[in-house]
Amino acid sequence: MEDSIEFKLQNAEATRKLGAVLGETIDSAVVIGLQGDLGAGKTTLTQGLAEKLGVEESVNSPTFLMLNEYHSGRMPLYHFDLYRLQEDIESGSAAMGNLEAELAEFMQSPKVAVVVEWLDLYEQFSAPYDELRVKLAYLPETESEGRSVVIKARGRGAELLLKAVKKEFNL
Ligand code: ADP
Ligand code: MG
Repeated sequence: MEDSIEFKLQNAEATRKLGAVLGETIDSAVVIGLQGDLGAGKTTLTQGLAEKLGVEESVNSPTFLMLNEYHSGRMPLYHFDLYRLQEDIESGSAAMGNLEAELAEFMQSPKVAVVVEWLDLYEQFSAPYDELRVKLAYLPETESEGRSVVIKARGRGAELLLKAVKKEFNL
């Protein structure tokens, strides 16, 4: 991971806007890895992204499924959540192999947005692909209600996204 930025998202609107910039800019196959505790803003960001892709359905956390897919936008959006796979990952279960095969198929498409929550639980999942890693964290309560965000890009498609974020947030 090379290029990296860190800044503050003062409110939920800013988190949504971050997602919107990604949704507006994405023009290839990129994995967007989201890290952050419960309530950090992962779903808010994904909703902003989906809206700008033109997704018509409402987007929620894929808590009880490990994959949601949306095909009504200008490119497909796949939304993985690895949290519930923790045991499969630890036991080296075949479930992960299946999921990797599925991701490989999605990533063959020239344009596709793949959001992966809890990618840090299984780093090798996204290893072969362009990846934008977004880490959301709470700020100390005394400071602000907002969130801090660290974004790292790997590969050309992700670097383009990072560049657009820098421009939109004046970084
Ligand atoms: P997650 O999916 O990571 O659990 P959500 O996206 O559901 O988190 O967000 C949880 C709550 O935090 C929502 O009420 C959302 O509006 C709020 N929120 C999101 N981003 C920010 C922010 N930058 N500052 C303050 N509140 C935020
Ligand atoms: Mg969520």
